[in-house]
Amino acid sequence: MSTLLISDLHLQPQAPEITAGFLAYLEAARGAEALYILGDFFEAWIGDDLLALGDADPSGHAALAAEVAQALRRLAESGTAIYLMHGNRDFLLGDDYAAACGATLLPDPSVVEIDGQRILLMHGDSLCTRDEAYMAFRAQARDPRWQAQILAMPIPERLALARQLRDRSGEANSNKAEDIMDVTPDEVVRVMREQGVTTLIHGHTHRPALHPMELDGQPARRLVLGDWQPTKGWEIRLEAGQPPKLRDFPLDN
Ligand code: MN
Repeated sequence: MSTLLISDLHLQPQAPEITAGFLAYLEAARGAEALYILGDFFEAWIGDDLLALGDADPSGHAALAAEVAQALRRLAESGTAIYLMHGNRDFLLGDDYAAACGATLLPDPSVVEIDGQRILLMHGDSLCTRDEAYMAFRAQARDPRWQAQILAMPIPERLALARQLRDRSGEANSNKAEDIMDVTPDEVVRVMREQGVTTLIHGHTHRPALHPMELDGQPARRLVLGDWQPTKGWEIRLEAGQPPKLRDFPLDN
């Protein structure tokens, strides 16, 4: 039995190839023990209540969310456990939507035990501590009072705000030094030590790689998932008794 981990699909109505590739991926995932989606599953999420709009949502976000939930639920009903973790874009995704997907929301960070191995799962944005402007926004965005305020806004206003945040983040990021967009090595070590693990899996940076490390004299590793493109997906596959495998694969449309 295998366990699958993916992240950073950035699903959006404007990228139908990635959605189609993901739906095909779910069909192929049948029989897996578990599927972990480690954040930035959706490019934007303005609240679970969007789903109720259905086809009445001209932005297409509601229809996309409904289609994805239905496909995830089918996989869940076939016996695969599904876990969702928030990213920095879909942090407003809530229990209602997770339930519609037949999925469980996992806190960031989470330590899971898979085939006797303890693995730390994170989205990865909290590891990028050198990006102080983003860390300040992250603290605000995780504040339940701020979230409640946003969720109380009418849906069209929330859609406009999501667009604004995305444009601003794109502009800001194009002006940031390369290294502040990546994880802070000391923070990686700190969190792994605190959680008592030698394996960390995360996404977010869009820099897929396997980084062997040494942690307090022990061999350790950090695996980074890649972001999905219209023609290519990324996954980590865990099989009993084998080291985690990171791979990319062509998206089947
Ligand atoms: Mn991210």
